[in-house]
Amino acid sequence: MREKIVTDKVLGEVVLRKSATARRVSIRVTADKGVIVTVPRWVPYGIGVAFLAARKEWALKTLLKVREKAADYGPDEVGQYLANNEATDAQKAVLIERLRKMAKDYLPERLAELAAKYGFQYNKVFIKHNKSNWGSCSTRKNINLNLNLMRLPQEHSDYVMLHELCHLSYPDHGADFHELLDRLCLDHTKKSRTIHEKEIRRYRLV
Ligand SMILES: [Zn+2]
Repeated sequence: MREKIVTDKVLGEVVLRKSATARRVSIRVTADKGVIVTVPRWVPYGIGVAFLAARKEWALKTLLKVREKAADYGPDEVGQYLANNEATDAQKAVLIERLRKMAKDYLPERLAELAAKYGFQYNKVFIKHNKSNWGSCSTRKNINLNLNLMRLPQEHSDYVMLHELCHLSYPDHGADFHELLDRLCLDHTKKSRTIHEKEIRRYRLV
């Protein structure tokens, strides 16, 4: 299969695909890849572009809908549970308490490990539940970690903890802060800070 990517002002990146088996031009919209236009092998890409242009409004509406649905709560098990089931408030409360327990068992210990490994000293660590941040670091050098971190793959929860640890050295998000965090990220997870940030944006705090 051959493909070409074009950028549309409204739809963003559009994948144009040539298929050996397709018999007609078709459009698929996915949360991950966005808009994909498939054309039969012998049909020029331009025909696919014109086909899409005539259905742009539909494609945009569908794109927004699938993206909203996919980003609704997150790709994790808890996120999916909340997105797919009509969980009652009582069930949600049980879920949050379960996350809180897991968080208390795991996060303080992990934070201590990371701090020791990278030479940071903080005062206290608290497990919080809020919908505004994954973690924070106070001027008293206390670190707050959101129980939602238990929903993330370890590399991303490690990233958040490294981020907060770096605030012990630099309270703001200035160039020095980013330089330090970038260095630690690449050493620790082999992924850049921006990759972590992008991945974490897929999860909504609950
Ligand atoms: Zn920060």
